[in-house]
Amino acid sequence: MGSDTNAQYVPEETDPAKIIVELCKLFYAQGWVTGTAGGMSIKDGDLVYVAPSGVQKERMNPVDLFVYDTKSKTYVSKPELYKPSACTPLFMACYEQRRAGACIHTHSQNAVMASLLWGREFRIANIEQVKAIPKVVEPGNLSFFDTLVIPIIENTAHEEDLAPDLEKALLEYPMAPAVLVRRHGLYVWGANVWKAKIINEAIDYLLELAVKMRHAGIDPAGDIGSEQLTRKI
Ligand SMILES: [Zn+2]
Repeated sequence: MGSDTNAQYVPEETDPAKIIVELCKLFYAQGWVTGTAGGMSIKDGDLVYVAPSGVQKERMNPVDLFVYDTKSKTYVSKPELYKPSACTPLFMACYEQRRAGACIHTHSQNAVMASLLWGREFRIANIEQVKAIPKVVEPGNLSFFDTLVIPIIENTAHEEDLAPDLEKALLEYPMAPAVLVRRHGLYVWGANVWKAKIINEAIDYLLELAVKMRHAGIDPAGDIGSEQLTRKI
């Protein structure tokens, strides 16, 4: 192919506000941020972009976003119509404790169901999609034979009150790529927005699969072969 191919090339969007608006539309279509639920944030240098509280996530415009300067500790953009997201302290904890570049919070039903079926932590192993999850404490991703462990914290009446327990979970589970909130949803982060998107999608897939495995009588963290034994029985 000649120069015609290059003529069709569209550079990847780099404006954090536009990316948040675009991705929230995708997440809405997945049922992850419906009914104004959920949230998203990107850290660009000293600036933190956050979707506002209580808005329809699929109908936001870039100007609707809050932009907080972590250096001056002031908002450089604060839309008058809206309130800052109640997720903001939780996103800030992920930025500070995990050096994240972006955070996603969903009210995915897969996350809620998993939080009801597991106790203090969610575990899954020996599934190909686990390979999309970073090791966090060292470069590279988990292998097929590794176990993904996600801590589960209890819900609170107000979103911002989750922050102390989320911070504790981040300390207690240094390898965790996400935190589940019981009867509520999921917090995921990544080194940049595209990594956060991939990790969120992979974890949601694994949560959905694990719930189905449990219903089929298969232990999602069990040894390979245990499900065959179950089938024989
Ligand atoms: Zn929430």
